[in-house]
Amino acid sequence: KKLEPQTTRETSFIGKMKKTGKNIVVFYGSQTGTAEEFANRLAKDAHRYGMKGMAADPEEYDMSELSRLTEVENSIAIFCMATYGEGDPTDNAQDFYDWLQEGDADFSGVKYTVFALGNKTYEHYNSMGKYVDKRLAELGARRIFDLGMGDDDGKTCVCVCVPFDSKNPFLAAVTVNRKLNKAGDRHLMHLELDITGSKIRYESGDHVAVYPINDSVIVNRIGDLLGVDLDTVISLNNLDEESNKKHPFPCPSTYRTALTHYLDITNPPRTNVLYELAQYATEPKDQENMRKMASSSPEGKALYQSWVLDSCRNILAILEDFPSLRPPIDHLCELLPRLQARYYSIASSSKVHANSIHICAVVVEYETKTGRVNKGVATNWLKNKMPTDNGHKATVPMYIRKSQFRLPFKSTNPVIMVGPGTGIAPFMGFVQERGWLKEQGKDVGDTVLYYGCRYKKEDFLYQEELEEFEKTGVLTALNVAFSRDQAEKVYVQHLLKKNKEAVWRLVHSDNAHIYICGDARNMARDVQNAFYEIAEELGGLSRSQAVDYVKKLMTKGRYSQDVWS
Ligand code: FAD
Ligand code: NAP
Repeated sequence: KKLEPQTTRETSFIGKMKKTGKNIVVFYGSQTGTAEEFANRLAKDAHRYGMKGMAADPEEYDMSELSRLTEVENSIAIFCMATYGEGDPTDNAQDFYDWLQEGDADFSGVKYTVFALGNKTYEHYNSMGKYVDKRLAELGARRIFDLGMGDDDGKTCVCVCVPFDSKNPFLAAVTVNRKLNKAGDRHLMHLELDITGSKIRYESGDHVAVYPINDSVIVNRIGDLLGVDLDTVISLNNLDEESNKKHPFPCPSTYRTALTHYLDITNPPRTNVLYELAQYATEPKDQENMRKMASSSPEGKALYQSWVLDSCRNILAILEDFPSLRPPIDHLCELLPRLQARYYSIASSSKVHANSIHICAVVVEYETKTGRVNKGVATNWLKNKMPTDNGHKATVPMYIRKSQFRLPFKSTNPVIMVGPGTGIAPFMGFVQERGWLKEQGKDVGDTVLYYGCRYKKEDFLYQEELEEFEKTGVLTALNVAFSRDQAEKVYVQHLLKKNKEAVWRLVHSDNAHIYICGDARNMARDVQNAFYEIAEELGGLSRSQAVDYVKKLMTKGRYSQDVWS
């Protein structure tokens, strides 16, 4: 039986897919609009995986064309099928259902997956979705993903609400993005990400990972230098049979998508990349230098260190400075490592902000030895994420990474928090949480903060909030080291030493937990040394005993660090 479409519009979805370059079609059987909305969202999301999707009402198209879907390269049919009444199809899917029942179509080679929408409290829970899933398989189609079961009753749905992780980040809307510093050349920022409806849970001290995208200026420049049309559709397949991944990144894609979303184009390339690329340098001198830098000779290593690492040359700078080096873009895409998520210490407490995650970050921008200005990928991208951008919500793909950086189990334990600069981030969450505990009538031990910044008038981050916490007694002591407001440097460890008696009493007698956050390169080590010195002076310990003392605190979970460089 041939299905008769009921409209006079274009009835060939295959024709439409071919004409518009789509390779995913999402059919919906919808009565109240939910399945239709899901289908539209899925179709739109396809671009994140290098695909192009369209949503389609089965009533409007000639569904007998389904067996011809294989004519569209790399195609998938997705069915969002709601169940209505007593296990019935929705009105717009009735004809399709009848046809499937009677039909003897051959769907060999057609790839599909079904998401069922229903309500568990009904006897015929998701029967339409289950039927379509089973019937398509019987008629030879290939199920590429298990049937998803959506339950409107508990508002849980297997396919949409699985916990978000690195492979499946949540798109959180940015609701606040404000500059924190009052003056100075730098840009320090506070962002709030909305996680309403995501079911994401977090604890103070956890990290949020965000997937940034690369600067289009760099992407375009690479395209120009290599003379390629960045919008060419590509698929990069792993030839390595051992590899469990078919593609190094979601394919099909375009060069532009790959360079923008998937590949690391800003870190200095490793020597193996230089080695592989050297073959494409047509100037013998360029080729020789590249080979030398990739070699293990002392001279080669020194050249790589100074010319690539110390000069912060990324792949674009290398292409610019070796004008004869013009590798095929396919090989370059194969060699470049994947763009990584960036982590941020969450600057809020879920007890106070259950539906939002706060970030405190400094925008990375610096001049290199070659005179170029390098910009940090994630921080410059976040800086421009304004809550509404031309009427659109700005969103950030994110997920949570659990950490061990935790407030003491007993709220009565005192805490000493040491976090200069952006190291203040997790302590904003800790302090909010201690305040909340107090509001709940809990006994809360001393909450002491050591914060450091350059100038009181410039970069005293969260000054108003911190002073308010101090005024209300949530913070028992707010110690701030301004490093550049006087001739000699004053750092957090100097203030710790100044208050050594109080610090020692909290640690040694009152079971305080110590937390350090921020710069890993110098600050964390210097602060640790200050604790050694305090233990020596006030505990009468030798240096090695003081080192053991701090080590013991660490094993007991009473000295925790959240540091990065
Ligand atoms: P990228 O593009 O990654 O560039 C950064 C790189 O540029 C550096 O690694 C360094 O190699 C180079 N670089 C930077 N400055 C210079 C310079 N002056 N000279 C030469 N080279 C330079 N950051 C925060 O701001 N707030 C946080 O709360 C926070 N929490 C973190 C928690 C964890 C667990 C970790 C691992 C990191 C955290 N970071 C935090 C750092 C953050 O993840 C990013 O590394 C940072 O924001 C820079 O990212 P980006 O993409 O903007 O820069
Ligand atoms: P910041 O504003 O540069 O520094 C905060 C305060 O810490 C300043 O008063 C600073 O003083 C002081 N300080 C410097 N050295 C110290 C030390 N050894 N011990 C104690 N205090 C010290 O802080 P930030 O912007 O948050 O960055 C801090 C560090 O984190 C950076 O230097 C960097 O290493 C690291 N970081 C790296 C990235 C990245 O790109 N991967 C991103 C963010 C932060 P003075 O400056 O006056 O000496």
